[in-house]
Amino acid sequence: KYIDSIKKENGIINAYVNITEETALKTAETVDEKIQRGEKISLLEGIPMSLKDNISTKDVETTCCSKILKGYVPVYDATVWEGLKSQNAVLLGKTNMDEFAMGSSCETSCFGGSLNPHNTDHVAGGSSGGAASAVSGNMAVYGLGSDTGGSVRQPASFCGLVGLKPTYGSVSRYGLIAYASSLDQIGPIAGNVEDTAIIYDAISKYDKRDATSSGSRVKTVDTLNSSIKGMKIGIAEEYFDGAGEDVIASIKKAIEAYESLGAEIVQFKLPSLKYALPVYYILACAEASSNLGRYDGIRYGYRTDNYKDVNDMISRTRSEGFGKEVQRRILLGTYVLSAGYYDAYYKKAQKLRGSIVKSFQDAFTECDVMLTPTVPTTAFETNYTSKDPIETYLTDICTVPVNIAGLPALSIPCGFDNKGLPIGMQIIGKSFDDAKILNAAYKYE
Ligand code: GLN
Repeated sequence: KYIDSIKKENGIINAYVNITEETALKTAETVDEKIQRGEKISLLEGIPMSLKDNISTKDVETTCCSKILKGYVPVYDATVWEGLKSQNAVLLGKTNMDEFAMGSSCETSCFGGSLNPHNTDHVAGGSSGGAASAVSGNMAVYGLGSDTGGSVRQPASFCGLVGLKPTYGSVSRYGLIAYASSLDQIGPIAGNVEDTAIIYDAISKYDKRDATSSGSRVKTVDTLNSSIKGMKIGIAEEYFDGAGEDVIASIKKAIEAYESLGAEIVQFKLPSLKYALPVYYILACAEASSNLGRYDGIRYGYRTDNYKDVNDMISRTRSEGFGKEVQRRILLGTYVLSAGYYDAYYKKAQKLRGSIVKSFQDAFTECDVMLTPTVPTTAFETNYTSKDPIETYLTDICTVPVNIAGLPALSIPCGFDNKGLPIGMQIIGKSFDDAKILNAAYKYE
């Protein structure tokens, strides 16, 4: 059924950049046989799903939607996929994304952008646009994306889905092709909170192959339905600056719904929020410039045809292989790391990162979770990336702070705008309080 729907819809929506039909059907058959034999199957066994194209899959091409990695076939599985594969999860294919996960509209993909199934004049969001449009367009039950500054939550918000950015370290990054390692985290996009919790529980395990791995401390499905009476929900006004009227109105309604469930609303200020975007774009670009140094035409994927010597080969390969946005970020990252500018930009951003972490810690002495918009707007119209890049960066204002602080956050649908496009709200928790934000989301849903 899902493969039929991919065949019908993918030509327009462009959710998948690689469809793994044969192995999907084989796995589904294996599970079917188990069921016929009366064997017990696990929760995610036989469930059709997708993986973002920056999650390594053994023997299945993994490109990060970049020309430079076209034709690259990993020789090992990412830990998240290794785990799900061993449970007979049915991988339908690899999903579209902004090139190397740099973007907010999916339009920097070398395969072209992914459209929003709610309204195809609009983008699915980014960078995990394909993961969201696949679920929203009935082309998968769930998908795994990656979230460095909002790439799971923002497309989930644009497509009317639930998207979880787990606590940094709770899900292994082994086999996730790095963008900005201190911010990257794999997370699920699904149609509802319970599915999201089940997937999170399956993928949040300690992994010795990821030096920053810690695993999770609880099983989140067990506490989904706990009462939220007396739960303190924090509202920081800075998060609402510049948000659309319809977004603010929908969140106000959600606040009322929480009050009627017995939650207590706490207002406070988070002045350090204004540093979040510059800190994010300095650190993310710095880390990206280092991480992407490995694409040199020697070790992976694409190599230019014409060159004079090794240096010329590397330079031409990178100029031809990387798209404009990726090149912009490598240059920016190299600049902020260079001698003479390091102290003024990179070091300063690291210091400010510390104060953002601290201000969240202070905020969480006053509340249990925070409620904010996920994005100030609903889905952008297509051809969004042709605009001024800074304008795009600014739309990440609500999502990047939690990556800087390593906190868990999710996006859950809370209404529609006057064009019928979904609005999402974000619930943020303390480190390792993934269960609490899922609980708060489940009660609202
Ligand atoms: N839009 C942000 C960026 O371009 C976030 C991307 C992400 O989370 N991968 O960096």
